[in-house]
Amino acid sequence: MRKIVSILALALLLTCISTNVFAVDFDTYFHDRTLRIDYLRKGSAKGNTVEVSNFVAKSGTWAGSRVHLIDPFNYGAYRIVVKDAATGTDIYTRTYSSLFQEYEATPTGRDSVATFQETVLVPFPKAKVKLCFQQRDKKQQFVTQKEELFDPATTNVVITPAAPVAKKLLYSGDSHKKLDVVIVADGYTKKDAKKMEQDFQTFAEALVKMKPYKDHKNDFNIWGVPAISKESGITNPIKGEKRNTAIGSSYNIMGIARYLMTYEVHQLHDLIDGAPYEQIIIMSNSEVYGGGAIYNFYANVVASSASATVLPHEFGHTFAGLADEYIDEDISYEELHSTKTEPLQPNITSLVAFDKKWKDLVEEGLPIPTPVSAANLNKIGAYEGGGYRKQGIYRPAVRCMMGTGGGFCAVCKRAINAMFEIYTE
Ligand SMILES: [Zn+2]
Repeated sequence: MRKIVSILALALLLTCISTNVFAVDFDTYFHDRTLRIDYLRKGSAKGNTVEVSNFVAKSGTWAGSRVHLIDPFNYGAYRIVVKDAATGTDIYTRTYSSLFQEYEATPTGRDSVATFQETVLVPFPKAKVKLCFQQRDKKQQFVTQKEELFDPATTNVVITPAAPVAKKLLYSGDSHKKLDVVIVADGYTKKDAKKMEQDFQTFAEALVKMKPYKDHKNDFNIWGVPAISKESGITNPIKGEKRNTAIGSSYNIMGIARYLMTYEVHQLHDLIDGAPYEQIIIMSNSEVYGGGAIYNFYANVVASSASATVLPHEFGHTFAGLADEYIDEDISYEELHSTKTEPLQPNITSLVAFDKKWKDLVEEGLPIPTPVSAANLNKIGAYEGGGYRKQGIYRPAVRCMMGTGGGFCAVCKRAINAMFEIYTE
């Protein structure tokens, strides 16, 4: 019996191994609509499982590219692979990360089991597909952990309750060829309506103000979702302040005081159903410094005077998969960035495979690792300290928006510019 089970497991795994795809024709495989997959990821550092909670028919058209259906970057810790069931061909892939990946790197996550909500969006299949939920092994290779059949003719698909009408904050054109960002309000009551309007404007302007986002202003569609909360403000456990808000944002996530996120991911997607979206920014009604963002998951930013600098930084995480270039040894993530392999993010390196990162941008003769000195202040190199670690991880510039401040360094700019291509073609 045991042998049969393991053969079955192997067969299941083999059916999800990626096939080479040169170009996928959108109209052959997909309707111009969106299938939203809500699921739960449950486990600890010892392992985790994925359980689909709901297939949801999102309102409106597909907001993503109809050309770039296969993820060329693979920056994320997880990957969703959609396979045509009849031929086994990969017809859509995207990588992303989530709060669980951070949780399992904390001391609590070592062996305490916890459950996290996650959601992925894929174009709505015309025929039966296999959905492969993948995570990385120790060598960073993707392995399938769960395979789910989706048959548009028979699988139960739900529709979300009516969501607030989205406002156009910046509109540049057809969603298929634009980056659609939704900004959703959290911690605003009906009485805060005027402040919400002003904060939407501030956020939309801040998002396209800094280079290289500024150079892509005409590539953005920005939508505002005026979600109304029962109470004003944001939950802050350190201050003993509990607020009943639309999305449930909170400070002190993973025990980090300024880390502002929400666990209510399915509710978040319900609320923004009325907007076309590919990236999500939660606008939290609080003056307390804070924020957070995870690649292709969502960003959360406070609507305060700090938003002008916090927003481009957090969007760098969620949109372009950038890592933090600063050092913070209080952040107790244990193996988030191993020094034995090359980190997934494009703007930090362990020097294990530096030629695959930004070695081509380093001027000839500059030493690697590069010492911090007055002469090197504006030079791209490999400066020790980044990804929270003091040693073993290197960043491209002395100063950068993803680090201690200033504009984006040349390495981050290149990664952001490249990312725009897969949203705008
Ligand atoms: Zn940088």
